Amino acid sequence: MKRNTINDNLIKTTYIFIILFGLLISYLLIFVIFESGNIIDNSYNKRIDTLSNYVDKGNIYSKDLEVLATTDEDGNRYYPYASLFCHVVGSTAMGNTGLENAYNYEMLSSNVNIFKKFINELSGEKHPGNSIVTTLDVNISQNCKNALGGYKGAVIVMDPTDGSVLSMVSNPDYDPNTVARDWDTLSSSTNGELLNRATSGQYTPGSIFKIFTLYDYITENPDTYKNYNFTCKGTVDFGDYTISCSNKIWHGNEDLLISFANSCNCSFVNLSEGITTESLSNICKKLLFNSDLPIEIEYKSSVFSLTADDSSFMKHQTLIGQGKTLVSPIHMILVMNAIANDGVLITPRFVSKLIDYSGTILEEYEIKNHAILFTKEETDILKEYLRQVVLTGTASSINNSNYTLYGKTGTAQIDENGNINSWFVGFVEKNDKIYTICVVIENVNENASPAKNIASNIVNTLP
Ligand SMILES: [Zn+2]
Repeated sequence: MKRNTINDNLIKTTYIFIILFGLLISYLLIFVIFESGNIIDNSYNKRIDTLSNYVDKGNIYSKDLEVLATTDEDGNRYYPYASLFCHVVGSTAMGNTGLENAYNYEMLSSNVNIFKKFINELSGEKHPGNSIVTTLDVNISQNCKNALGGYKGAVIVMDPTDGSVLSMVSNPDYDPNTVARDWDTLSSSTNGELLNRATSGQYTPGSIFKIFTLYDYITENPDTYKNYNFTCKGTVDFGDYTISCSNKIWHGNEDLLISFANSCNCSFVNLSEGITTESLSNICKKLLFNSDLPIEIEYKSSVFSLTADDSSFMKHQTLIGQGKTLVSPIHMILVMNAIANDGVLITPRFVSKLIDYSGTILEEYEIKNHAILFTKEETDILKEYLRQVVLTGTASSINNSNYTLYGKTGTAQIDENGNINSWFVGFVEKNDKIYTICVVIENVNENASPAKNIASNIVNTLP
């Protein structure tokens, strides 16, 4: 009897040890598989220095295998296109940024075979690191940069069907080849050369927010939105405040489609009675405001903060894209991607393949669905509205019979002196392909709204 009890206890203790050991092993495996990459990617981690003692960091290639970043004979990082890809590809000299940071671990890993490793080690040579093939297109990027010219702002072009980022350009920029030398100037500059405005810029949306207002209104009033009617007289007086259309223009009689195409502030404020703050807030949440985005490089989320406690003034301002709302260009193009792709948001990607030093493919990154943001029926309606903007509305000056363009313009007031941010977000069907595009231009005069013309210049050069 007593012996049995001792045996039972021994067995129990043994099991407990086996379970604890198992847990420890799984923790170590999880750490090695999932966490070690994150820890190595940390810009401040000293292990990077250790790895780069043995491995020459691999290359960053464009989608057509042009070199965007490489390691030269002295072990320094070299960027053949200088500033063109500085924000998206990033740099390494003052801490890793962009893809240099996101794929640091992969590029500091080497898949050379064991014999070559042995020979390298005997001769004191470093191993060649693995390389990444990005989705970035050199020609499209150069055309975006040219179209942006001297303006401060950002341009993104994507393929919504597979989530590829084809171009991401931000102005002003810097030369990643000389970032260490220029660091004192760059780090104290008020122009924000180091900031990737495409992902980390937060802007007042202005009238591009009317896409969200429209979507909410249609969702809340599915049976009546087609009968909506309003007569715009250029301004609406609410006693304490007045809402005006651009240049106080009289848009006259409009249904919802034409109100949207004309970007009529008076009509969109008039929608307020059919819009509850709770519903608009839920719609914005569903469409990734105040949310993490599936972006591999540094970014800022968009902010929607209207509550039922806010004044009707604040609600009216919000419906036309003024007020407290802030959006990032990358978020706006992701919403466009979902509309252009029948509601499905494909996870955005900057990198399609990991290859070794000889070009052998080590990994092809899968195309994945991130979320379903709209139903097909909803995107059919939204496409009709976005098309009307180009056919007869605020973007009719850039309509072109060589392609089918959809979009929304925005003019966001940023001060009392008539300075604005100028926006265009949309997508184009051209040569059996589809591209999404987002352009934001910072701090220009009210009468200049350059974003749509910049978008048009870029769309004209798309293949
Ligand atoms: Zn109007």
